[in-house]
Amino acid sequence: MSVEKIDTLVIGAGQAGVAMSEHLTIEGIPHIVLERARIAERWRSERWDGLVANGPAWHDRFPGMAFEGVDPAAFPGKERVADYFEAYAKHINAPIRCGVNVTLVRRIPHAGGFRVETSDGVIDADHVVAATGPFQRPVLPALVPETAGVFQIHSSGYRNPDQLPEGAVLVVGAGSSGAQIADELQRAGRKVYLSVGPHGRPPRSYRGRDNVWWLGVLGKWNAAAPAPGTEHVTIAVSGARGGETIDFRRLAAEGMTLLGRSQSYDGEVLRFADDLVANVTRGDANYLSVLDEADAYVTRHGLDLPLEPDARRVWPMPASMENPITALDLAEAGITAIVWATGYAVDYGWLQVDVFGADGRPKHHCGVSNEPGLFFLGLPWLSRRGSAFIWGVWHDAKYIADQIAIQRHYRDYHLTASK
Ligand SMILES: Cc1cc2nc3c(=O)[nH]c(=O)nc-3n(C[C@H](O)[C@H](O)[C@H](O)COP(=O)(O)OP(=O)(O)OC[C@H]3O[C@@H](n4cnc5c(N)ncnc54)[C@H](O)[C@@H]3O)c2cc1C
Repeated sequence: MSVEKIDTLVIGAGQAGVAMSEHLTIEGIPHIVLERARIAERWRSERWDGLVANGPAWHDRFPGMAFEGVDPAAFPGKERVADYFEAYAKHINAPIRCGVNVTLVRRIPHAGGFRVETSDGVIDADHVVAATGPFQRPVLPALVPETAGVFQIHSSGYRNPDQLPEGAVLVVGAGSSGAQIADELQRAGRKVYLSVGPHGRPPRSYRGRDNVWWLGVLGKWNAAAPAPGTEHVTIAVSGARGGETIDFRRLAAEGMTLLGRSQSYDGEVLRFADDLVANVTRGDANYLSVLDEADAYVTRHGLDLPLEPDARRVWPMPASMENPITALDLAEAGITAIVWATGYAVDYGWLQVDVFGADGRPKHHCGVSNEPGLFFLGLPWLSRRGSAFIWGVWHDAKYIADQIAIQRHYRDYHLTASK
């Protein structure tokens, strides 16, 4: 069996793998990036047709290249984002091999490094960077059985309203994906029910500056991971139609029926927690707290940013919040489809290295795992809030390349010590 050897093997060529390659090249570290499909595949085939970037083009990019031909304040479409990463990989001459699936990674016994089995042969690597994405396996709560006679799809499989059968739609989950898909369906003329859990909903822009700018100057992108056991709160933000703040009261005023968190199903009736008002109220408070922090920042720094009193206007309480529905007969409501915008889990089935905690998540600090030579990149909160986002992963990749360079230095000590 012929075995190829490489210093560092990066698995996955999404934004994380491309950023990793750039920093490894800068450090002069020989490496290969393996991608089972195409560069930025998930932007191409696991996002809905109308998705645009959640952040403007000036921000959601790597430092080395702008989005050519895109207004910096605009939100590029998902194909344009994928094109960007393809162009970026070309720009840095990244050694990416597409169409190569990694099937197994394990330690080489009694030696350093890892043996990597792929659909295109075996590679031995001193270092492995798992850059296979923060959102690998769609999570679909086992609430409504397939036999319920309702079309069900996860947001990663949703493409456009025409894909769904005629009739009303229930969207479960009101993070960025759920809120945007629900809005798109409503604008396409569908009756939409939206099951809303705890969320934050920052202003798209305030006093002439985009949310990403406020997150930056207020130090929020750099926030450390929430403590274990802290309730996960999804963020509802959108770049659709030039960028609008997501406001669930407004969506309700436009006809959407809001519901609490989906809880159980008895064969006909879906039940919801009595938490809708609390969830929306907390989301509103989160929104207003960002405005307050932004105002305080403007005052503290003596900035000349235009006042925006309209941003504090609160839409009236919709009927679905006045009298929350806690039980809904799907057939009676005419619901023929459910879109589960309920998030993702990681899937490292191919990684046979003792690096996972009881919760199945890799144990690491800022991407440096407990297993020498093994690194993770692109995971939510890897080092900070920005870690799973386009701009943040580039900085995490820089840190990991630095860590690999440090280890190489120790490894090569006996060679250089005599000099
Ligand atoms: C709907 C949605 C919208 C988003 N919008 C934005 C946004 O606007 N701005 C922003 O900053 N972030 C956004 N994100 C978050 C994040 O930027 C994306 O999830 C991004 O795709 C993550 O990049 P990644 O490289 O870490 O992982 P991925 O894009 O998932 O890339 C991982 C790659 O690894 C490959 N792979 C997986 N397993 C293997 C294997 N065994 N062997 C070989 N290859 C493998 C996959 O094919 C894939 O190409 C969004 C996320 C979602 C879900």
